[in-house]
Amino acid sequence: MKITGVTVDVTSEPKAHPVQDAIQLLDRNGVTRVRIDTDDGVSGESATYFGRVESSPAVMAKIVTDQLAPAIMGEDPTVIRGIRRKLQVLTDYQGTAGLSSYGISAIDQALWDLLGKSLDVPVWKLLGAQRTAIPAYAMVGWLELDVAGLERVCAQAMEQGFHGVKMKVGGGPLTEDVQRIKAVRNVIGPDAPLMVDANQAFEYGEALRRGRVYEEFDCRWFEEPLPAGDTDGHVRLAEKLDIPIATGENRYGQAAFRDLIARGGVGVVQPDLRRAGGLTDCLEIGLMAAGFGVPYASHGGGAHIHVLAALPNTIYVESGLLPKGVQLVDGCYPLPTEPGLSSWDG
Ligand SMILES: [Mg+2]
Repeated sequence: MKITGVTVDVTSEPKAHPVQDAIQLLDRNGVTRVRIDTDDGVSGESATYFGRVESSPAVMAKIVTDQLAPAIMGEDPTVIRGIRRKLQVLTDYQGTAGLSSYGISAIDQALWDLLGKSLDVPVWKLLGAQRTAIPAYAMVGWLELDVAGLERVCAQAMEQGFHGVKMKVGGGPLTEDVQRIKAVRNVIGPDAPLMVDANQAFEYGEALRRGRVYEEFDCRWFEEPLPAGDTDGHVRLAEKLDIPIATGENRYGQAAFRDLIARGGVGVVQPDLRRAGGLTDCLEIGLMAAGFGVPYASHGGGAHIHVLAALPNTIYVESGLLPKGVQLVDGCYPLPTEPGLSSWDG
């Protein structure tokens, strides 16, 4: 089987209901879709999401079309790690991190989709699954919601059967965080997991001060307390706090996780498919974390669910409120049964 074509399609529209975290307003629904065709007639697809900057999907599409696609034409699409290596070497000079990584990831996901479809099995079966359903929590506590709105959406998530909820913090003073955390705790009860996410908003001293307060509310983890690349800061914070530090969604490539994990700077590792480099890199990062006894919780869901099914250290998939027609079973997402990724649009 040989790759005979790569098609890229772009959409970028304003979001009907923009959401706010501590550092940014996410007000776009941008998507770059990649399809890889073969001489066997089997195709694989991926969809890459952008929450900000109108032009980002088109800029990524340019990288895929002009740089990555020509390099993989004629290749055997089942040699997924070989293609990854080729594209990493190709983009090294301009920087493999950033939009190059988004492009490599999009191709990686499309290749896994293609492999599953060519063998007529869901990708999670190819990876050697450890489980057939993934415990889910709902990221619903955005900062544009007032306290009443926050309470409403958290109640809705618990009614939908999620194990727990995550809320944004760090948009205002600590007193505001405390008021909002108390409100959510009151809605979800004392035992449901409650995670807090600062989206890199704090410097070290403030992260330590707030982390000590979040601990008092028995928060399950403290996500992105510091700028993502500050490995030393994460290590020092993890030593001082009892609450696990969660991070990883803004780190690019597997090498960016090695020291962080080995030095104990992360208590829950959270790679993002687009930035880490696709299913292949997320799987390998997850296994590296497993070797150090660090749990894995994906940033987002969608195609990531196949990796979550395979890893021994998976604890949660991240989700928004459930769309119509989707139901949790005992608080877990069932795995897709269609060949390939099938959740590639999720
Ligand atoms: Mg986050």
